[in-house]
Amino acid sequence: MIKVQKGTKDILPAEMPIWHFMEEKANEIFTKYGAKEIRTPIFEATELFARGVGDTTDIVNKEMYTFEKSDRSLTLRPENTAGVVRSFIENGMHRLSAPVKLWYKGPMFRYERPQAGRQRQFHQVGVEVFGIKQATADAEVILMAVNYLKELGLNDLTVELNSLGCPKCREEFKTRLKEVIRPYLPQLCEDCQTRFDKNPLRLLDCKSPECQEIYAKPEIQAVIQGDFICEECSEHFEELKGYLDALGIKYTRNKLLVRGLDYYNRTVFEIKSNNLGSQNAVCGGGRYDTLVKNLGGEDTPAIGFAMGMERLASLLGEKQDKKLKAYIVSNNTLEAIKLAEELRAKNITCEFDLTNKKFVKQLEKASKVAEYALILGEDEISANKITVKDLDTSEQKTIKKEELDLV
Ligand code: ATP
Ligand code: MG
Repeated sequence: MIKVQKGTKDILPAEMPIWHFMEEKANEIFTKYGAKEIRTPIFEATELFARGVGDTTDIVNKEMYTFEKSDRSLTLRPENTAGVVRSFIENGMHRLSAPVKLWYKGPMFRYERPQAGRQRQFHQVGVEVFGIKQATADAEVILMAVNYLKELGLNDLTVELNSLGCPKCREEFKTRLKEVIRPYLPQLCEDCQTRFDKNPLRLLDCKSPECQEIYAKPEIQAVIQGDFICEECSEHFEELKGYLDALGIKYTRNKLLVRGLDYYNRTVFEIKSNNLGSQNAVCGGGRYDTLVKNLGGEDTPAIGFAMGMERLASLLGEKQDKKLKAYIVSNNTLEAIKLAEELRAKNITCEFDLTNKKFVKQLEKASKVAEYALILGEDEISANKITVKDLDTSEQKTIKKEELDLV
């Protein structure tokens, strides 16, 4: 028997109410902020991710599904920011009046070790806002994330916030970080040895306990916890915190928060659930002011976030599927199919028994799947009437067919 692939899952009909709920809320909430939905292809040129996500990241180095077709290297998207930026550039969206606010939802692919909350095909819903360098955009993007989660009914969440500074002030920080870490270089894990030269900021992101123990040493902590960002970056960060404070959005500063992707500058944030195990991040985001230009577009500041929908779904638990409005109970299949089609044309959900089972069996089924049983016996049919039974209260009445009003 052929089975579903490791790290992938079917989303079965029983789970669909939760997925529809997450998708509908995304549309509703992000639309309120003026965002428009965008859908980009599932596969793109491999180079887009190498340049867009960064070739020192785990995503690009270890996790991409890459394949060749007609001498082209293609990759299943591991995230959607690079694709959205490509589309922004390709479709000349910098000519639209700023801000350009886009949102997306869909599957992403990463070759990871599958575990709870970590799949190889998973889904993200996310937002990207282009064209605004001011901290107002940072505040609005964080509000979009927080309010979306609130509307889903998720409250036990923590917003973690950090500023990575700009390429200028970060350079100095990197140099100082390398200075204090250099003596321990031989003891670091293989990944950190590579990161040390290629992207020292990502050292802080290492999950190995041995490395974390080293980074906890006082002289290294002194550098990490010190304030390295320049005056302009610091003003931007203070302004953002001011908006969040004024709006009652609680956050904690996490100076170890550097995020997995290479392109971030200034604001980075993560939203974590207190009800998930070790894969507890539901949302990650940040500012990426250089990415559009790096990918060949006009210089355009931008900020966005992505949320893992499987992780959201596991927090939301189960949601009852809606019952049908009506189930038609009749041994006259022709009358039943005609009535069913009339109701569907009026947007009323309904079914009837396709196999023409005994009347009592049909009534039993109706009480399981529908709010109302619409009974069409021979008496009703000859009088052009319907007996409507409320399956909740068991009340029933016989009315003229034209009087039927279930909405
Ligand atoms: P992590 O540290 O958990 O690997 P990440 O930094 O790789 O996360 P992002 O690239 O920022 O994650 O993606 C944003 C969100 O997408 C994450 O917070 C998480 O909820 C979700 N996510 C990322 N990778 C996976 C995965 N393999 N399976 C399920 N959800 C994922
Ligand atoms: Mg990851």
